[in-house]
Amino acid sequence: MPSAVDHPISVVASERAVIAGRLTAATVVISLTTGKITSIFDCVLPPSDFPEGTPYIDHSPHVLLPGLVDAHVHLNEPGRTEWEGFETGTKAAAFGGVTTVVDMPLNAIPPTTTVSNFKEKINAAQGKCWVDVGFYGGVIPGNHTELTALVKEGVRGFKGFLIDSGVDEFPAVSSDDITLAMKELADEPTTLMFHAEMIPPISDSVGDAVQHSEPPLFPHGALTSYNTFLLSRPPAFETYAIAEILALASVAPDLPLHIVHLSAIEAIPLLRQARARGVKITAETCFHYLSIASEKINDGDTRHKCCPPIRTQSNQDGLWEELQKDDKETVIQTVVSDHSPCTPDLKCLPPTVPRGTEAGPNTGDFFNAWGGVSSVGLGLSILWTEGQHRGITIEDVVKWCCANTAKQVGLEHQKGDLAVGFDGDIAVFDDQGSFMVEPSTMLFRNKCSPYEGRELKGVVRETYLRGQRIFSRADGFTKKSGPQGQLLLEPRTTRT
Ligand SMILES: [Zn+2]
Repeated sequence: MPSAVDHPISVVASERAVIAGRLTAATVVISLTTGKITSIFDCVLPPSDFPEGTPYIDHSPHVLLPGLVDAHVHLNEPGRTEWEGFETGTKAAAFGGVTTVVDMPLNAIPPTTTVSNFKEKINAAQGKCWVDVGFYGGVIPGNHTELTALVKEGVRGFKGFLIDSGVDEFPAVSSDDITLAMKELADEPTTLMFHAEMIPPISDSVGDAVQHSEPPLFPHGALTSYNTFLLSRPPAFETYAIAEILALASVAPDLPLHIVHLSAIEAIPLLRQARARGVKITAETCFHYLSIASEKINDGDTRHKCCPPIRTQSNQDGLWEELQKDDKETVIQTVVSDHSPCTPDLKCLPPTVPRGTEAGPNTGDFFNAWGGVSSVGLGLSILWTEGQHRGITIEDVVKWCCANTAKQVGLEHQKGDLAVGFDGDIAVFDDQGSFMVEPSTMLFRNKCSPYEGRELKGVVRETYLRGQRIFSRADGFTKKSGPQGQLLLEPRTTRT
């Protein structure tokens, strides 16, 4: 038997673990030299089976899960670090068992749209990350010549907007821009993703909810009414944008396409038909579309503003129905946070919500408030809470938030499962516990989330990164070592 000193290992075990997508007993052995899982046994081995002094914990009855891969977060550093940051965003992730986040190319300044901008971001991230961080690049008008170089620098995919992004430095792309990007990326190991909302021409728009005029969005009704906001971004925005993307798909038939944060169920048949005729396109949805319904959002409660909007209860039910379909059939394969925070003043918070402000001209105005929901690190518990009455299993959650998200960003050989050769990233999940969302359980920088005040079922007791415990609910963060997260800059090799 090798000595503990020569080959340091760490051992975690439980009667319940999700291994290769299946709930089973397991003992997981991780090399502390490489951080990789070196062996897995399908039973709980006693500590005496390992060299003396080996760190060993039997976590039964808690469930060992692969660390979650949140494939859609905005960390906003550098440039808008007061909105979020690598340190706070990744701590919030680790708190909720998320061991990998993939940062979106916009809302930091500069945006990740050129190699030199990407280098600035990498510099800003060094030494601050508590979990592993991957990066997306951005597609904006005129930057197609940077795209293949960004692939080589390690971006894990690209995102473009078909509608105003909310920040000046990340303009929307036209069909011509998309065509150029598709040609550049046609044979690259990457994924091209879209914020799929687009204002249809007046002849295609639905009823009088949208008027094609200046300003282009002309809401009818009180600006503090959630319903006014909802009507201003109807499902037709999503279906029109997706039809536009599908019309261009033949430019690069082998390039995987992906719709970020799908909200409207009306888009599902379009995507299903496209997949049936061989178009390589998938979609993700978000924790908030699966757990919040527009009928329950109080007027003025701008914590709920995001784009596309949170829709009705029946829309939410439709998203769940799609998600729970057989793997090969489903259009929606992943669930992500789209954690997109800002400072409370930009959220125009009314005095009726925690840390809201005195009434001002824009207070509670859904049209002036920044669009984005904060939830990084809460997703596992949000899904588990909502799933209690929807008949989901913990294996389902692992599929949507670990295995499939890892695959989407080309990390399927390293993350998203507990398997020999994979990183020893583990969430220890207490599926019976519960907790209240409050400032002490929202570790992101700005304590502003529509989930505040909700009790969530399912608590992450401990989080491991490469076999090292980085967080425990009892003891907090492991200060001794500091942030040990790595930047995932190895270029992708697979297209999924
Ligand atoms: Zn986003």
